[in-house]
Amino acid sequence: MNRVRLLVLNAALGPLDYRLPEGVSAPAGSVVIAPLGPRKVTGIVWDEGRLPGDEIAFERLRPILEVLPVPPLPAPLRRLIEWTADYYCAPLASVARMALSSGGALGGPATLTEYRLTGAEGSGRLTAQRKTALEKLAGQQGTMRELAALAGVSEGVLRGMAGARLLEPVVVNVDRPYPPADPDHHQPDLSPDQQAVAAIFTDAVKTRAFAPFLLDGVTGSGKTETYFEPVAEAIRLGRQVLVLLPEIALTENFLSRFTARFGAAPVLWHSSLKSTERRRAWRAIADGSAQVVVGARSALFLPYANLGLIVVDEAHEISFKQDDGVRYNARDVSVMRARFEGVPVILASATPALESLHMADIGVYTKLDLPARFGGASLPTVRLVNLTEEKPGSQRWLAGPLVEGLRDRLAKGEQSLLFLNRRGYAPLTLCRNCGHRFKCPSCSAWLVEHRLSARLACHHCGFETRVPEVCPECGESDCLVACGPGVERIAAEVADLFPEARVAVATSDTLNTPERAAEFIAMAEGRAIDIIIGTQLVTKGFHFPELTLVGVVDADLGLEGGDLRAGERTFSQIAQVAGRAGRGAKPGEVLIQTRHPDAPVIAALAGGDRDAFYAAETAGRRDAGAPPFGRWAAIILSSEDEKEAREAAVRLGDVRPRLADVQILGPAPAPLALLRGRYRYRFLVNAKRSANIQAVLRDWIGAVNFAPGVRVGVDIDPYSFV
Ligand code: ADP
Ligand code: ZN
Repeated sequence: MNRVRLLVLNAALGPLDYRLPEGVSAPAGSVVIAPLGPRKVTGIVWDEGRLPGDEIAFERLRPILEVLPVPPLPAPLRRLIEWTADYYCAPLASVARMALSSGGALGGPATLTEYRLTGAEGSGRLTAQRKTALEKLAGQQGTMRELAALAGVSEGVLRGMAGARLLEPVVVNVDRPYPPADPDHHQPDLSPDQQAVAAIFTDAVKTRAFAPFLLDGVTGSGKTETYFEPVAEAIRLGRQVLVLLPEIALTENFLSRFTARFGAAPVLWHSSLKSTERRRAWRAIADGSAQVVVGARSALFLPYANLGLIVVDEAHEISFKQDDGVRYNARDVSVMRARFEGVPVILASATPALESLHMADIGVYTKLDLPARFGGASLPTVRLVNLTEEKPGSQRWLAGPLVEGLRDRLAKGEQSLLFLNRRGYAPLTLCRNCGHRFKCPSCSAWLVEHRLSARLACHHCGFETRVPEVCPECGESDCLVACGPGVERIAAEVADLFPEARVAVATSDTLNTPERAAEFIAMAEGRAIDIIIGTQLVTKGFHFPELTLVGVVDADLGLEGGDLRAGERTFSQIAQVAGRAGRGAKPGEVLIQTRHPDAPVIAALAGGDRDAFYAAETAGRRDAGAPPFGRWAAIILSSEDEKEAREAAVRLGDVRPRLADVQILGPAPAPLALLRGRYRYRFLVNAKRSANIQAVLRDWIGAVNFAPGVRVGVDIDPYSFV
């Protein structure tokens, strides 16, 4: 067949048909360039009969221009793209774009010229600079710029040496191969529990069939060591592995453990990779030479040539849910990818998502448990501090028992961690004189004071402004008051209480590069920090053996919004941060400050009764027809014009479908009624599992012609309700 239908990487265009020129072959999955009017578009040759489109007479088809020099996207990935677009009501083109996420890689192999010494001595007398270069560059190879830096001479000197045949050019592939991981580099002794679980995983890798696992292991049980065994098995069998991590900026600890186990670093994939690294990784993934890829959620759509296993670590993390562009949940999509690939997938967590536990309950996932910490460490004891009785002083947030706990650890030379999920100094600033509150100009949100950078910032859109000298409303000076605490304010309180303590604030503001994160970890491990004060960033993956006290500054904070998952989210966040305590030889203690000690989630944390908490949450969800028992979807309509947004919402509301198994709430102004300069209205759809919610939404939204300024967002299985 020399007629092809392309999935074109432009969401505004449907599939388009083209002709293959004589002698050109382009099997399904091939990435091609095709003409479109006077322009060129990139497209993917799609399987025959799977994309609807108009039948155009063969004679009228234009020929494609070029087949790009990359392997065709494999069939399982093509099925995944179709499934994701369909399930999340997203354009196919937007999903396909995530697979082709390195423009540079599509151009094919590229070379670059490096230089090395020829071994010639040079005729006559050498200049001092050439002499130095000859000494310093022995055994080296690199670009002119790299060699100039190494030798400490100018590139001009080196070019002169190349002219004199002292240096010779070598053409190399820009995409250097990655150092191979050795599955048997360093095999740890697994505990009997770990061994039993690892054996099941390893068998599943050998069998190579779809098999979803839920690895439910308490914090410190050694989940990582356990899933490294099937990773090793996949490497032995020459298959690729994808490990998804929630916070790729903070993978230092993971990377060093990986390198200790396999003797080489894995291939990294995340949004802040340099374009050359992105290209190198993409090509190695597509040709199968990247053995283990460790990535953020976007790594899920890459064209693995030969996938053998997927691991999702900290699988409960809500950061696996993408909330802009294609709104997908990487945890769920990874299970689908494993299904299309016919490989096992491991979801690892100490606090699995309720949805995942439900899948285990109904027998879809195999649940494997690691009930004890590795090496005999005990789980920390948990104590509640009732803030209605133990009141911190005015403008203070740490109550007596927590202050005493910190004092005690300081005296013993042990570490403490204070957790408050709020960046900055104070979440609200107001004028004492006139009551003016500082608000973001583009969002319905207060500006958060950041004292370290002397700014007021919006955490939704990134707007920033200097803290003013006088109130912009009434013109008074010295009248601004900070309301409520953020981590910086807790740090100030700690500094006041314990001036001698070495304190570190750990947030996405302070640990914003891998280098800074590494530096922080090294200091904490080297006991150069006494008290860590951090946001949810410190709930993940850290292992500091000297950390014996964890203080939760405000356990009620996450319950305020009151959305569907508030209880579950609070439970997992606090359980995770609590899990940082007492991981070494010394036992840990957790103090939870709360105004609601009787709230079910707080009581469950205090009593360590996870099962009862999950059972109660599950029953509540069943009664409400909420996921996983019913289906939810959100529709967000937005426009820069308030009236246009409102009218769009009313019009959509007027044509809502009336179905027995679908309930539609709204439209209502979104809690964040203004975001990045756009006015927002929301609908919430609650459907029984019998309904085809995607079809209902497509028909419903498709029936309205919206004004050009209106954006319509569909969020299937939403996590955010603002
Ligand atoms: P989890 O991810 O389950 O919270 P980790 O994987 O971080 O637990 O393991 C906790 C600590 O125990 C880590 O320092 C890890 O290196 C160590 N550990 C776990 N299993 C083993 C093992 N079999 N041999 C040696 N050290 C182990
Ligand atoms: Zn804003």
